[in-house]
Amino acid sequence: MSFNDGSKLDPSRVQDVRSGGGGSRAGMAIGGGGGIIALILAIIFGPQALSGMVNTPSDQQVTQVQSTDGNDINQRCTTGASANASDDCRIVGTLNSLDAYWVEGATQLRIAGFTAPGAQIFANGTTTACGSASSAMGPFYCPGDSTIYIDPTFFGELVRNYGADTGALAQEYVVAHEYGHHIQNLTGAIRNSQVGSGSQGGSVRVELQADCFAGVWANHASSTTDASGARFIDPLTDADIKSALSAAAAVGDDHIQQQSTGYINPEGWTHGSSAQRQAWFTAGYRSGDPGVCDTFSARDLNHP
Ligand SMILES: [Zn+2]
Repeated sequence: MSFNDGSKLDPSRVQDVRSGGGGSRAGMAIGGGGGIIALILAIIFGPQALSGMVNTPSDQQVTQVQSTDGNDINQRCTTGASANASDDCRIVGTLNSLDAYWVEGATQLRIAGFTAPGAQIFANGTTTACGSASSAMGPFYCPGDSTIYIDPTFFGELVRNYGADTGALAQEYVVAHEYGHHIQNLTGAIRNSQVGSGSQGGSVRVELQADCFAGVWANHASSTTDASGARFIDPLTDADIKSALSAAAAVGDDHIQQQSTGYINPEGWTHGSSAQRQAWFTAGYRSGDPGVCDTFSARDLNHP
C-alpha cells in the first residue's frame, strides 16, 4: 500500500509510450551492443552493468509487449487507490509526491528556479537525448533531456533476480533515486560521476547521494499533498522502510557482483555496496535534510 486511496494524482505528469502513446515502439531502439547508451551520458540504476551489457539479443526488441493494464494511464492513474493497485500508477503517484517535496528540498539546497524532471514509461526500448536504451539496462535518468525513464517490468526483476521484497516502497525508492539524479543535474553534482573509480570514487558518491535524496523524500512523503491538500502517501511504517532497504541492498554492487561472478571487486563498483546504499538512504530518511547528503565531502562512505 502506502498511498492514500483518496488522493488525486496528475497522470499527465508521465508520458507513457508503451501502447499507442505516439512515442517509441519496440524495435526502433536497440541493436546488439550498438545502441546502448554510454554510461558517461546516462545515470543508470543498479543492475544494468550485468544485464544491460550482456544479454540483450537484438531480436529481443521485435516482440512488442503490451502494457500490462492495457489502458491509458491518463484514465487509470488518477487516484491514490490506483497507485496502490498497479506498478505504473505507483510510478505516477510517486512522481507526484516527489514533485511536491522537492520544491521545498530544492530551496534548502539553494537551487534557483527548480524545475521537475520529465518522466517516461516505456517497454523494451526507447530513444532519448542520451541515445537509445534497452529495458535490460534498468531505470535511468538522462541529463541531456532531464528525464527519468522506467520500464515497470524492472520491478518484477528487482524481486525475482535481485532479491528485493515486494513492498511498494521498494519501487518508490527506485523512482526517488532517479529523481535524485535530476536534483544532482540541477546542482551540478552529477558531473562528479566521471571523477575517480571504485568504492570511494565519484560514480559511487553520485549514486549514494541519490540514495540519500531518496531517503530524504521518504521522510517527507506523508507530508506531500495533492492540489486539494489530501496527502499522497500515508505515514510510512517500519515495513515500508524495510522494503526500501531491501531494494537498496538488492542493487548493491557487491551483491550483484557476488551473484553474477561469485566474487567481489570493489574497484569495479559504480553504485556502492548494499551496506553503503542502505546507510545513505537511512541517513537521508532519519534527517529529512538534503544537506546531510554531501557524499562528496564524506571521508568514509561506509559511515554517513
Ligand atoms: Zn543511480
